[in-house]
Amino acid sequence: MSGRPPIDEIRRQNALDSLEVLDTPADPHLDTLVRLARESFGVSAVLISLIDHDRQWFKARNGLELSETPRQISFCSHAIEREEMLVVEDARLHPCFCDNPIVTGPPYLRFYAGQPLCDDGDQPIGTFCLLDFHHPRTLSETERARLRDFAYLAMGYLKINAMSRQAEELRQALTRAQRKAMLDPLTQVWNRAGLDHLLPREQAAVKAKGLQLGLLICDIDHFKAVNDSHGHACGDQALWEAARRLGASLRPSDLVARIGGEEFVVLARVNNAEELARIAERVRHNMADSPVRTEQAELRLSLSIGSTLLREGEGPASALARADRALYQAKRQGRNRVMPA
Ligand code: GH3
Ligand code: MG
Ligand code: MG
Repeated sequence: MSGRPPIDEIRRQNALDSLEVLDTPADPHLDTLVRLARESFGVSAVLISLIDHDRQWFKARNGLELSETPRQISFCSHAIEREEMLVVEDARLHPCFCDNPIVTGPPYLRFYAGQPLCDDGDQPIGTFCLLDFHHPRTLSETERARLRDFAYLAMGYLKINAMSRQAEELRQALTRAQRKAMLDPLTQVWNRAGLDHLLPREQAAVKAKGLQLGLLICDIDHFKAVNDSHGHACGDQALWEAARRLGASLRPSDLVARIGGEEFVVLARVNNAEELARIAERVRHNMADSPVRTEQAELRLSLSIGSTLLREGEGPASALARADRALYQAKRQGRNRVMPA
C-alpha cells in the first residue's frame, strides 16, 4: 500500500455528504465522461463510484446495470485506501480479490483499475474506475495517466456542481432520504413520486422568475417490439440509454422523470411556447437521429411527444392530462413527432 495515512472514516464520510451528491439523478456531463472513458479504454464498464457508509453508490455508470453494491464486496473501498490508483490485472489471481463473490460469480470481474477521487481536503470519497468482465488486462503508463485525467475531470465537475444553483435548489427541495425514495433505480432519473414532489416547486419557481412551465410527455414508440425481438434485458438497457439521451437534450434547470414503463415527463422552465417547441424537437431528434447501442442490438428508437404549457391557475394534473391526450394524437398521426396540446 502506498503512502496514504489510514482513513479517518468520519471525516471522509462528512466530505462525501457535504457534496450532496448521493442519491441524486444522473448527470448528463458525468454520463458523457464515463461513456467516453469506456470507449477510450475499451473496457466492459466504467463507474464513478462513491463510497457511502455501507455501500458503494454509482453517480455515473456505463456498462453495468446496478445502482449500488454492498461496500464489503467493493473493490473501490480498497482503492480509496491508497494514494495511487489500484490496478488488479487479473482478479482471479489476486490474493485479496480471488474469492470475492463478484469475481467467483456474476458479473465475473477480471480486471479492475480505480483512481481515488479526493476532495479539496484530500478525503477520498470514491473512485473513477474501469472494469472488465471478460479478460484480464494490463494498464500502460499512458493509460494510467489518462485514467488520472478522467478522475481529475470527474472530481472537478463534482466540486463545481456542488456549488451550483441547481444543487442548492435541490438541497432545499428534498432531503437525502426523500431523494432516495424518488429516484427510479433502472434509469436514475426521478420517478413518479419525484415528479409529484417537484412539480409545485417548479410552478413556484417559474412564477417567481416570470417564466412559464413547459411539460412534455414522451413515450417511446413501439417499445414492446424491442423486448419481443431482443429480450427484456436489452429493453432495460435501451431505457437507460433513452434516459441519457433525454437528459443530454435538456438544460441544467430542466427535470426528467420516468412515470411509467417507457414513458418520461420533462419539465422545462421556458419563456414561451416557441422555446418549449424547440426543446421538444431537440429531444425528439436526439432520440431518433442515431441508433441506441445495447449489448444485444443497435436500435432505432423514436419518441412521440405531447407538449403543453401549464396555464394560469391550472393544476399540474390537468396539464398532464392535456399533454397525454396530445401524445395519443401524436401516436395516431404516425409517431416520432411532437404534438402541442
Ligand atoms: P406505442 O408506440 O404505441 O407506444 O407502442 P409500445 O409498444 O411502445 O407501447 P405498449 O404500451 O404496447 O408497450 C410498452 C412496452 O414497454 C410494454 C413493455 O414490454 C415495455 N416495458 C415497460 N416497462 C418496461 C421495463 O421496465 N423494462 C423493459 N424492458 N420493458 C418495459
Ligand atoms: Mg407507453
Ligand atoms: Mg410506447
